[in-house]
Amino acid sequence: MKSGLALLVVALSVATGLTAAFAESVPDAPPIAIAIHGGAGTMNRADLTDEKEQAIREALSLALQAGHKQLAQGESAVSAVEAAIVVLENSPLFNAGHGAVFNSGGAHELDAAIMDGRTRNAGAIAGVGHIRNPILLAGEVMTASPHVMLAGAGAEEFAVSQGFELVENDYFSTEFRRQQLERAQAEQTSRNSLPPPELRFGTVGAVALDQDGNIAAGTSTGGMTNKRFGRIGDVPVIGAGTYADNETCAVSATGHGEYFIRSVVAHDIAALMRYSDKSLQEAVDEVVLEKLVEFGGSGGVISINRQGDIVMEHNTPGMYRGAIDTSGRLTTAIYKDE
Ligand code: ASP
Repeated sequence: MKSGLALLVVALSVATGLTAAFAESVPDAPPIAIAIHGGAGTMNRADLTDEKEQAIREALSLALQAGHKQLAQGESAVSAVEAAIVVLENSPLFNAGHGAVFNSGGAHELDAAIMDGRTRNAGAIAGVGHIRNPILLAGEVMTASPHVMLAGAGAEEFAVSQGFELVENDYFSTEFRRQQLERAQAEQTSRNSLPPPELRFGTVGAVALDQDGNIAAGTSTGGMTNKRFGRIGDVPVIGAGTYADNETCAVSATGHGEYFIRSVVAHDIAALMRYSDKSLQEAVDEVVLEKLVEFGGSGGVISINRQGDIVMEHNTPGMYRGAIDTSGRLTTAIYKDE
């Protein structure tokens, strides 16, 4: 397929919500694949206008293409994950980077993590307020520091030392998220209650398989609307919201972070594969559709293994998600029944 035609097919698929061949797969070339999410939650068809749905599918497609381009050029799964997540962080539609939710004090505190399945090296940042693309700083922690997780002012000091430019905290603000904060504050009856389910989620994440057979996972979030100052969710906790190990799988999660931390969701999926010989599909189903549901944790995951199998599962009515599989087929989806 000529690239112009491929692009046209992608554009049509974005408009119609159908799937398309994004890239011709070259016979005998090593498999490459990528999957992304833009958060899980109660997405009711009635609440999502056609324009917004199309904008979300377009943003998902652009992020997938950015990541897939890296893989097609022979770059690492880590680079592909970063490239895809940067697109989603820069979009106001998702709860990460520009468009992140507000905490209870009306500010933004961002968490992100990345993990390389080849080495099980990982980098994470928590509670930062001035980093335009948190996933890139997580990557910097992984590759340019001896640590796995840096938080708050220390993470930002490290960012400056590595040449990152700081942005004002209101760079992340959007009117849509401000209205969500106001609604959450009006509807939350006590400091210990949670915001209504439709206001809680929207994190972004990516998993990828590169030409060298390595997998990686990354996740980035503003956390939960109206969260307490200083609250850190599952995203930067390696093994909870983000995990990658070539021996098993790469996982990026989205959902009610406290439950994902207490269930160590991403590592539990990998552990079921490693110790119980479960397939990726069986492990994801057991954790997301059984264990988490029994525990009361709502959300979902995207995952990939070294064969390029992609499993995207959620126990919420919807999860923004998409993939370009090993055959080059691009798909996006929002609701459970897609
Ligand atoms: N897991 C994220 C958190 O609890 C929220 C989300 O996935 O939307 O911070």
